[in-house]
Amino acid sequence: MSTLLAASVTNNLIQAAYFIAALLFIIGLKRMSSPKGAKNGIIWAGVGMLIAGLITFLWPGMHNYSLILVAIFIGGVLAWWSGRRVPMTAMPQMVALYNGMGGGAAAAIAAQELIRGEPIALAPAILAVVGGIIGAVSFSGSLIAFAKLQGLIKKSLRYRLQQIVNSLALLSTLALGIWIIVLHGTAPMYVVIPFFALALLFGILVTLPIGGADMPVVISLYNACTGLAVAFEGFVIGNAAMIIAGMVVGAAGTLLTQLMAKAMNRSIANVLFSNFGETASGSAEGVSGSLKPIDAGDAGVMMAYANKVIIVPGYGLAVAQAQHKVWELTQLLQNRGVTVKYAIHPVAGRMPGHMNVLLAEAGVPYDLISDLEDINPEFATADVSLIIGANDVVNPDARNKKDSPIYGMPILNADKARNVIVIKRGQGRGFSGIENALFYMDNTRMLYGDGQEAVTRLIQSVKSAE
Ligand code: NDP
Repeated sequence: MSTLLAASVTNNLIQAAYFIAALLFIIGLKRMSSPKGAKNGIIWAGVGMLIAGLITFLWPGMHNYSLILVAIFIGGVLAWWSGRRVPMTAMPQMVALYNGMGGGAAAAIAAQELIRGEPIALAPAILAVVGGIIGAVSFSGSLIAFAKLQGLIKKSLRYRLQQIVNSLALLSTLALGIWIIVLHGTAPMYVVIPFFALALLFGILVTLPIGGADMPVVISLYNACTGLAVAFEGFVIGNAAMIIAGMVVGAAGTLLTQLMAKAMNRSIANVLFSNFGETASGSAEGVSGSLKPIDAGDAGVMMAYANKVIIVPGYGLAVAQAQHKVWELTQLLQNRGVTVKYAIHPVAGRMPGHMNVLLAEAGVPYDLISDLEDINPEFATADVSLIIGANDVVNPDARNKKDSPIYGMPILNADKARNVIVIKRGQGRGFSGIENALFYMDNTRMLYGDGQEAVTRLIQSVKSAE
């Protein structure tokens, strides 16, 4: 009797702790929706995760504590070390790696349930198989995404009959999955092992042909898949925290993927299957005008005597790690009475929120930073738009040229400012691989150089302006 009572108390305690953890996840996510609360949101969600992790040690039937503790120690140390070391430019690949681990963990739970060979009811069998496929695909696909973003895989693998080979891998995985479901999870090893192996192979095959620059969208998609797989496996083992956390991640990842695709005016299918950015021609055909260089001295004077300057950061700012210098320049201009604002395109950089995070790191106040819809009408009132390492997100062809690959993509109307100064190293194209008509316009001047070094020269020039 007393054992029953103790078991019931423990169960209630576990469920209550999971409920609190779930609340903390949701509060954390809510806080992450604004840059002001984001840091704090991570702490809320982290505390939720800690509670969910600790309480699981009370789970009935838990054993192998020493193995679990060793695994947590190794994982924790690696995450702490890599999290502190990773530069902002490498953040997308780190997200890919961590995301892949989540998918792999979900697939491992499914494998553990199915390899035991004990009969399970139909619904959990279906969820274990579906979650297993999604988790395994997300795991191997995310690892390929990581390798591409890290530069370990440089070429996108394409060959004839690729779609057929991919479809065969998927269909065979599904066929084995149905076999496992029909046998209520009692399928022999020679079915279960190839099932997981094929799901992993499919993740690799489907990700290999996708261009490196589309990887952030793919990561976001796999992130949604990982969430879903974790939720499904949560149902299988009856773990409420996994169900809620998985659903939250799944929903957030899906929304993010849609938002990114929308901000590039492309469908998810186009991102996954079009080879975008690798087929575009790099010629300047159809672009009139010439590239007109400016030196930092003249550019600095132009900005020092302006009333309003709008800064447009892009991927090149992240590469150059120019955020601190840009903030220094901003403060100098503000001290001279110049109004300075920052315009952020939703997909500027290589991951959503890339620019916001960089600027926040440098200490730029949030009220200086505006989104596309809010800032676009203001360009017409700006004396200078200073573009630092941005390209596609300010290309007016997206507005004007119907046959451009980026036609229809919402852009920042930097070209509407009285003067445009573009900082970039040379004639390099943006991610889309096309020429940018803005660079050739009459009111545009090119300030060539690495982002950080060019802004440093601008600072000197503004300082010496009388
Ligand atoms: P782009 O990739 O279009 O352009 C970056 C520019 O920065 C290049 O033209 C390059 O020119 C310049 N650059 C590179 N390194 C440096 C440096 N060290 N100093 C100065 N300039 C440098 O960047 P955007 O931010 O404008 O656009 C992002 C693109 O990525 C969009 O096309 C978007 O669709 C895509 N994308 C974004 C995602 C997201 O979630 N944010 C997801 C997927 C794709 P040069 O070589 O001459 O210096």
